Order: sequence, then C-alpha cells, then structure tokens
Amino acid sequence: MQPVALLSQEARRINHSNLDLRLPVPATQDEISDLSWTLNEMLERIANAFETVRAFTGNASHELRTPIALLRTEIEVALIRPRNGDEYRIILSHLHQEAVRMTNLVENLLSIARADTDLERVILQAIDLNDLFQRLARDWRETMHLAGIDFKADIGNEHFAVLGDPSTLPRLMTILLENARKYTPPGGSVSLSAKCVDAGIQIAVQDTGIGISENDMPRIFDRFFRGERAAIVDSSGSGLGLALGKWIAHRHTTDLVVGSSPGQGSTFSFILLRTVPPSLKERSLFAPNLLEDAESIRV
Ligand code: ADP
Repeated sequence: MQPVALLSQEARRINHSNLDLRLPVPATQDEISDLSWTLNEMLERIANAFETVRAFTGNASHELRTPIALLRTEIEVALIRPRNGDEYRIILSHLHQEAVRMTNLVENLLSIARADTDLERVILQAIDLNDLFQRLARDWRETMHLAGIDFKADIGNEHFAVLGDPSTLPRLMTILLENARKYTPPGGSVSLSAKCVDAGIQIAVQDTGIGISENDMPRIFDRFFRGERAAIVDSSGSGLGLALGKWIAHRHTTDLVVGSSPGQGSTFSFILLRTVPPSLKERSLFAPNLLEDAESIRV
C-alpha cells in the first residue's frame, strides 16, 4: 500500500495555487501507475480550464478598467469649472457613448461567461427568415445610412424558414452587421443575403471594408483579439463579438466562416438547416416529421 499512501499524500498538497504539480508515477506499470497517469491527465485538464478562466477574468477587468477610467477623467475635467449648456451637452453625449460601449461589453462578457457554464440556452425552432431579414433591415438601414454605407438586405423572392434560436440567431447577425459597419469606410457597401445551398440556407454578411490581414486571420475568433488596423479604424470594440458569434453558430450545428481580401472587404457566412415555415404549423399533416424536428431542438 506504500505507493497509494504516497499518491494520496501528494494529492493533498495540490490546490488552486499550484495546479502545475503532478502526482508521482511509479515505474511498476500496474493499476497504481495507471491511476497516477489518469489523475495527472485530469489535473492537466483542470489546470487548462483554470488558466482560461484566469485569463478571461484578467482580460475582462482590463477591458472594463479603460472605459471606467475614461468616464472618471471626463467627469473630473468637466467639474474643474462651470460650463455652459452646450458644453455640458457635448460632455454628456461623450459619457453616454462610453456608457453604451460599457453596456455592450458587459452584455458580451455575460453571454460568454454563461456560454462557458452552459447557462445560455439555445433552443432551435422554426424561424421565418424573411421576417427576421425585414426586422434587421429596418434596424440597420438608418445606422448604415448615417455611416455613409450603402446597405442591402436581400433574400430574393423565396420564402425561407430555418431552424434557429429566436434570441441568439438575431444576435449573431447583429454582431456581423455591426462589424461590417465598423470596418467599412463611408462610400462602401454592406449586404445581408440568404441563398439555398445543398446543406440548407446560407446566410452571408458581405462588406467592402478594410478586410482582414493574413496575420490577423487565424486569431479573429479568439476572445479579446482585435486587429491592429481594426482598432485604429474603430476604437469601440472589445474583441468578443466573433468569439460569441462562433459559439452561437456552433450551437446552431454550423460554423461561422470568413473570406477576406485586405483593403477590399470581407464576407462572413454560415449555413442553417431549412425547415417548415412557422405559418405552416397548422398544416403539419403534410410534413409531420419535419415539424417535429423543427418544434424544439435543444442544443
Ligand atoms: P471587435 O470588432 O470588437 O474588435 P470582434 O471579435 O467582433 O471584435 O472581431 C475581432 C477582429 O476581427 C476585429 O478586431 C477585426 O480585426 C476583425 N474583423 C471582424 N469583422 C471584420 C470585418 N467585417 N472587416 C474587417 N475586419 C473584421
């Protein structure tokens, strides 16, 4: 029993501050050495997960510290002397912009934290894509117009219904449209489109913006990564949008893919499963199996 006693003595020493320690593996090549290997592999997985959480918390605090410091400085400078109404209005509008940025950041942080702990629920059901496109077009037309960008939401004459989650699917499209707006200079164009492909309905957001360099490409889906050029063109991002977008796409059993030419533009796309339109529910006799699948698939 001596090796077992040694194993438990060493295991008792391991805690959150020394997760790099490993248990001794006896050279006996028996059940005890197997057990030590297995426990060491488990420790490796726990240490990696712990490191991810530590890095996430560090990055999150850093991202929040910057806008809070900015808010404080603006308020302190504003309070140095009395100002007239116009000046106060300008200051308040800056503070408001920062507050909006912080709200978005906190929402993305929360979603990612919830995704990590499986608390963010994604329930796939039949979604009328034409309706969703109309809503997004309504929300984005004005914003794109104000940014000097030509915007089209094109679904053709077809009526598409897809399997999607009513809250995260629009969020994914919004992340892509928001990026297209941020990284497309005035005079450019952005389009949101849907077309039928073998595997289902392909949704794409295409822009004629700054594009993504070869160096940045492998990292754009990493949490907190921001392209160098992107950070200059628009300082409001936090590098969480695409990480969240990729997670949402995976939960829709698809992948978020990108094609881009630096200086010419980018296209982000993903494929959703086609299903029976919600309006055909009552006529479900025509496709009972399809409707059953479409009703509620929890991923
Ligand atoms: P953020 O936009 O807040 O920086 P994201 O996670 O949404 O964070 O995007 C990560 C990076 O991917 C961006 O900083 C940028 O370098 C690049 N990127 C994303 N979308 C586009 C786009 N449409 N055009 C050019 N670059 C993009």
